[in-house]
Amino acid sequence: AITIGILEIQGAFLEHRVALTNASQLLGNNVKLQITDVRTPDDIKEEIDGLIIPGGESTTISIYLRRNGLEQPLKQWIQTERHVTWGTCAGMILLSKMTDNQKIGGQTSLAIMDTEVSRNYFGRQVQSFEADIRIKDEQLKEIIQNDTFPGIFIRAPAIVKTLNEEVSILATVPDQISNTDVIVAAKQGNVISTAFHPELTEDCSWHLYFLRHVINNKI
Ligand code: GLN
Repeated sequence: AITIGILEIQGAFLEHRVALTNASQLLGNNVKLQITDVRTPDDIKEEIDGLIIPGGESTTISIYLRRNGLEQPLKQWIQTERHVTWGTCAGMILLSKMTDNQKIGGQTSLAIMDTEVSRNYFGRQVQSFEADIRIKDEQLKEIIQNDTFPGIFIRAPAIVKTLNEEVSILATVPDQISNTDVIVAAKQGNVISTAFHPELTEDCSWHLYFLRHVINNKI
């Protein structure tokens, strides 16, 4: 069995549960999925194999984490090699070492990924929208069976800079305003982040991708 924890403080966590369950059905019969919620330091158990940090509002979530003594145990859990973490939207912001309004993280975020994010990159342009993102990763292309995916963006961030080669780009989206491709999904070691909300699309490929990482990492 594999156990996935979902940080259930605020935001779209129910949808993640549904998508995980759907994705697990594509894994075959011998994989049993358990989902557990993470709200207190005691919930951050060593036995959890994978963790999802959902979207919401990153300032609110980071204040909650600090006040409830979750920040340090979470950070430690994420940095344990056996564990796989996936942050969506606000989760991406929390995982990033740098953001545009708070250079050098660590204080108000988990500061794990060597990325710089712009917290409301797309929010400046339009509150929410759907756009075809371009998949850059071969394994993802195989799972999605396409090189694009319908991304749902809600006041979404974007990765404006990767700080070193350890960060690999999983997907980009063409940005009309700057006329460039911006990074909306990345991976560094066992940590994945996406700016859009794959839990809001019927296609559960991203959850399947995450679960496969969790399984491969556990073996
Ligand atoms: N831009 C938001 C923030 O700063 C994130 C939005 C989201 O998670 N949907 O937290």
